[in-house]
Amino acid sequence: MEDGTGLRPETRLAVLGRPHGPGQPLNVPVVPASNFRAAPAGEGGREYSRDDGTPGWEAFEELIGDLEGGPAVSFSSGMAAIAAVLELLPVGARVVAPRDSYTGLRALLADGAAAGSRWRSRTVDATDGDALAAAIADADLVWLETPSNPLLDVVDIAEVAAATGALVAVDNTFATPLLQNPLSLGADFVVHSATKSIGGHSDLLLGVVACRRPEDRERLVRRREVAGATPGALEAFLALRGARTLAVRLRQAQDSAGELARRLAEHPAVGRVRYPGLPGHPRHAVAARQMRGPGTVVGFEVADAAAADAVCAGVRVVAAATSLGGVESTIERRAKLPGQEHVPAGLLRLSVGIEHVEDLWADLAAALEAVPRTG
Ligand SMILES: *Cc1c(COP(=O)(O)O)cnc(C)c1O
Repeated sequence: MEDGTGLRPETRLAVLGRPHGPGQPLNVPVVPASNFRAAPAGEGGREYSRDDGTPGWEAFEELIGDLEGGPAVSFSSGMAAIAAVLELLPVGARVVAPRDSYTGLRALLADGAAAGSRWRSRTVDATDGDALAAAIADADLVWLETPSNPLLDVVDIAEVAAATGALVAVDNTFATPLLQNPLSLGADFVVHSATKSIGGHSDLLLGVVACRRPEDRERLVRRREVAGATPGALEAFLALRGARTLAVRLRQAQDSAGELARRLAEHPAVGRVRYPGLPGHPRHAVAARQMRGPGTVVGFEVADAAAADAVCAGVRVVAAATSLGGVESTIERRAKLPGQEHVPAGLLRLSVGIEHVEDLWADLAAALEAVPRTG
């Protein structure tokens, strides 16, 4: 029992964000309306959805806010959610971001710097404790992404939050609200690309932020209102519908991810395997402490870029595709993208879905036949 409702997270996923009164539908309907009939003067009420929200956004926000332990605001995408948090900062604010983090975050910060010090940002290897400690000393906002995309770096959120006077924001996309709750570890903001595991079906774009302080939620709602990065009505419906099954999808995918990580580590064509659940992960102990499970994404290295491309070309069950967190497994060579110069050329990011683990393994093993053994 983790909160005042006395209900476990799996149960909260199923029951929150639903209408209650007699005769009400169990699901908040999709309301495709930009505007609503005006209430009599002085009575308030919903008038325009960009300003006042829709029932669908609110149901989704109720669920995610409850799971993360702070009031939530939804946005049109994960990047819109990230941008909204950064836009709360004054011009010239000093932002520290991890070298290994979602490419969009670093592109946004770089564009802001190029445009004339919107932010003064620096990237730091978040696995280098001394470098991180030096960087956060005079920061206004420390951005963390743990586990990170795509190197699965793990950072001790509580340690960073205790060591800095800066605001701390955590991209919790890889962990999901079921495996890690950064607000309870001292973070001020937690951000999700709900496009990934929360939505879970690769059929929408959506983002969400949960905040420690209710006044920050008001500021983010204001950002959404004036900048207009609003979720679509259908997307919010689908994200909530997807979230209902997050716990069962996650359990299946995480079990398979652990099994595949162990088998990949033994495979002669595979070099380093990155998965926080493996005892050999450099931050395995931190992950075991701050997460309830190691998640559904596995990184593994083959000989070089050509070998990694051959694996992507060889898989039949796993989809060679970008993105992650869907019911279907996906694999991608991340170093082919801009902004990934620090990523080993032969690194494959495998997002494990809900297929049978033996079908996934047979598929990967067959594709690995085509690539050289690393020894
Ligand atoms: C995909 C992703 C994002 C961006 O989310 P969008 O919904 O694509 O805008 C941010 N952070 C992480 C870790 C991601 O994987």
